[in-house]
Amino acid sequence: MVVIMKERATEAQVQAVIAHLMDMGYDVHRSSGANQAVLGAVGDGQADTGLIEVQDGVDRVHRISVPYKLASRTFKPENTVITIDDVRIGGDEVIVMAGPCSAETEEQVEATAAAVKRAGAKILRGGAFKPRSSPYSFQGLGEVGLRMLRSAADRHGLKLITEVMEASQIEVISQYAHIFQVGARNMQNYSLLRELGKTRLPVMIKRGLSATVEEWLLSAEYVLAGGNMQVMLCERGIRTFESYMRNTFDISAIPVVQQLSHLPVIADPSHATGRRDKVAPMARAAVAAGADGLIIEVHCDPDRAKSDGAQSMFPAQFERLMAELRIIAPAIGRSMCVEPVARRGWNR
Ligand code: PEP
Ligand code: MN
Repeated sequence: MVVIMKERATEAQVQAVIAHLMDMGYDVHRSSGANQAVLGAVGDGQADTGLIEVQDGVDRVHRISVPYKLASRTFKPENTVITIDDVRIGGDEVIVMAGPCSAETEEQVEATAAAVKRAGAKILRGGAFKPRSSPYSFQGLGEVGLRMLRSAADRHGLKLITEVMEASQIEVISQYAHIFQVGARNMQNYSLLRELGKTRLPVMIKRGLSATVEEWLLSAEYVLAGGNMQVMLCERGIRTFESYMRNTFDISAIPVVQQLSHLPVIADPSHATGRRDKVAPMARAAVAAGADGLIIEVHCDPDRAKSDGAQSMFPAQFERLMAELRIIAPAIGRSMCVEPVARRGWNR
């Protein structure tokens, strides 16, 4: 249930309604940013909405018919914007996150970070804890990798996103990363999501390989229900009968989720396709479809990458793509920041 208070409701009236809802067995989340206080009451309390409507200061009450309450547009009609210093995810600007699948060596992380910064990326991606399909594949460098990634990010004025696979890694990762990435294989790891709800760092939840939009939004709900409202979603391709590409990129999920939810939507054309020659067209399509950001694998020497080399772009390919995106974004009313350093790189 969503309770919308009158514009002139006093703080005492808001508090009285919160207390009333809690008495009825609800958890109450207060939405910030709107002119009026909006209270999201979640849980299995049994409320008579008429009883709430007559409380002082209450404007109107809506029942939320979807199972994800805090993630829904009914609870929060305006877009969520996640701010990390000067980077705003979910605002007008399309934000690009780029970097290697995995941190491998100091040199590889440094060269790749320098290249993605030059092309205009705002956030460095890179895995240190890797969820590999085979136990014999490279599993990541752990904290050593986190240190490499963060120092390269700092040197180049980038923020860092990296994957957290289990709750026991949250503490160490939070010392290095600006954003937690929950991988597709962990989208339904509810104990991990609950723990991330207790943190205050932004969380990007990738769509599970066979997850419906509703299941994906319910995963976001786990984090939101814990009190962490800085959640974004990432479409990374789903498994279908089509086997030509690594996955099937569900571009339609972008506008669908943006209609149902206020959370920013990021698109990952790298894992969606599995082939570097298909990453650029899918990235262009994702921006045209309204994605709030992209996450793209780039490697300074992709043919020697320890993971996901086939889908990792060469720096020059990535630079070309960024130049194309700067043309597409304004056509749909979005911006893409052109850093002076990016302009120099592009003209070389
Ligand atoms: C990754 O980002 O490298 C990754 C493992 O992604 P996903 O969870 O989407 O497979
Ligand atoms: Mn990868």
